[in-house]
Amino acid sequence: MTTTYDYLIIGSGIAGLYAAILARKHGSVLVLTKGSIDDCNTRWAQGGIAASVGPGDSPEKHLRDTIEAGAGLVDEEAARVLTAEASDRIGDLVSLGVPFDTVHGEVALATEGAHSTPRILHAGGDSTGAHIELTLASVARLEGITVLEHTIATEIVTKPASPLAREVGEGLGVRAIRALDTASGERTTYDCRALILATGGAGQMYLTTTNAEVATGDGIAIAYRAGAEIMDMEFVQFHPTALHLPGVQPFLISEAVRGEGGLLRDANGERFMAAYDERAELAPRDIVARAIRERMLATDSDHVLLDVTHLDPGLVTARFPQIYRFCADNGLDITRVPIPIAPAAHYTMGGVRTNTWGETSVAGLYAAGECACTGVHGANRLASNSLLETVVFACRVIQRTIDSPNGRAEPTPDAGSLRPVPSDAPGAGDVPPLTREALQSLMWRDVGIVRGRDSLTRAASVLAAWQSTPAAPTDRPSQELADLLTCSRLVTEAALAREESRGAHYRDDFPEPREDWRRHLVFRRKEAA
Ligand SMILES: Cc1cc2nc3c(=O)[nH]c(=O)nc-3n(C[C@H](O)[C@H](O)[C@H](O)COP(=O)(O)OP(=O)(O)OC[C@H]3O[C@@H](n4cnc5c(N)ncnc54)[C@H](O)[C@@H]3O)c2cc1C
Repeated sequence: MTTTYDYLIIGSGIAGLYAAILARKHGSVLVLTKGSIDDCNTRWAQGGIAASVGPGDSPEKHLRDTIEAGAGLVDEEAARVLTAEASDRIGDLVSLGVPFDTVHGEVALATEGAHSTPRILHAGGDSTGAHIELTLASVARLEGITVLEHTIATEIVTKPASPLAREVGEGLGVRAIRALDTASGERTTYDCRALILATGGAGQMYLTTTNAEVATGDGIAIAYRAGAEIMDMEFVQFHPTALHLPGVQPFLISEAVRGEGGLLRDANGERFMAAYDERAELAPRDIVARAIRERMLATDSDHVLLDVTHLDPGLVTARFPQIYRFCADNGLDITRVPIPIAPAAHYTMGGVRTNTWGETSVAGLYAAGECACTGVHGANRLASNSLLETVVFACRVIQRTIDSPNGRAEPTPDAGSLRPVPSDAPGAGDVPPLTREALQSLMWRDVGIVRGRDSLTRAASVLAAWQSTPAAPTDRPSQELADLLTCSRLVTEAALAREESRGAHYRDDFPEPREDWRRHLVFRRKEAA
């Protein structure tokens, strides 16, 4: 069965729904999403969305903080766009009905790590993402946008460039996407004028993650298979503070908790952050995550403590109602006892490489949100810039499809590819069977907060062995596993190649940044045109 739309949008988080609402004015729109409409990372976002709307703040200051956090790899042009267009996009969200919190009639702005001034807008205290998702989903419904739930995109259909097109430098173009209805098992091909990937990140590569179950990197993997360029995959952000309780999912304890004065203590009750960074609890996430890991090893404990018991209980419950409730439901009154926490995989800085218009290296294929790599985060994302990135670049994607359709990002001349399975890789019989948990455990242990040549080489060869015996995915779990495997190989091979430490990528055998590595690693499938 084939159906044709002007805009085909994959994913119903903030990037997908916002793009759909804008696109609706310019043509027919279909949104495909593999779970229910609000099954996404967006609804779990807590801290908020960054924008320089406060007194004394400016896009220039926001730009400087973003560049500083990104450890030398931020694309300045993209970050300038991000910070300059922030207040207009916040205005759009307000017009659509997102109820940002206010104090005395003015928007309330919070502080988060590595922001030089309060500039984080939030809604419902720490329920920003839930409010955004709910608002966008109800606007999409009111506007009559069709959202096909429980439908997983599995493959991008491209049209190869003609010899003449190749001569003038034009490459692959997008024609359609194949998708599977996970309830009926029916497969459908959807033709489109513009295909927008808004499939989110790949946090499910890791055993401990704050990400939703749907964050399996599908868009990144299917784009790679279709010949699009993938960039910066070695940069995975580990959030320092996820709730650590036996049998309970690693629920995020927002950065904003430290912004309001929360203190980190080791298992013996001692504060330790000042020994690692002068910004102490408000140091960048990679520094805090590594410090916590070190203290956990030093105290032989699987967690440290985040203490808010010295803060006004009224402030804690009013500012963090979601966190307070979640902990209370699990037997923890955080106004009275410190919160046990440990780091968890949180954000995929890399993804499908785009230019500042969301164009990928394949004509007609666009990417927005966490699955895209615009370059604004560099090697380390500044807190609360990701929700902002989704709306700024989703808006530019739609603008581009109107002003200059079917364009593409200039290809990278020196893109590498995943190596074929190395000849010394263990045979499939010598590695454990491929399961989601086996993959997550491997990535957590060998490609986690601290990596090194030995652990990365081991992981690379196991991942390659798993990929050497591919079975055609037949359902959502097997499709997701195949996509996680592709993303994990991209992360591991990039991490192995990058012989330095920078931002979220820390190698114990190369603990310092190196000037000759102040560049991006881009992968493109070899067989692709
Ligand atoms: C716990 C948590 C807290 C966070 N807090 C903040 C914060 O305070 N501020 C901030 O800026 N950022 C925060 N982030 C990051 C931010 O929430 C995400 O980067 C952002 O929401 C991503 O939006 P998205 O639309 O790109 O992806 P998502 O919201 O993850 O949506 C992806 C969508 O794609 C669908 N999908 C995936 N694959 C397929 C497929 N193959 N076929 C069909 N559909 C598919 C999914 O089902 C989902 O609907 C947080 C993240 C987490 C996990």
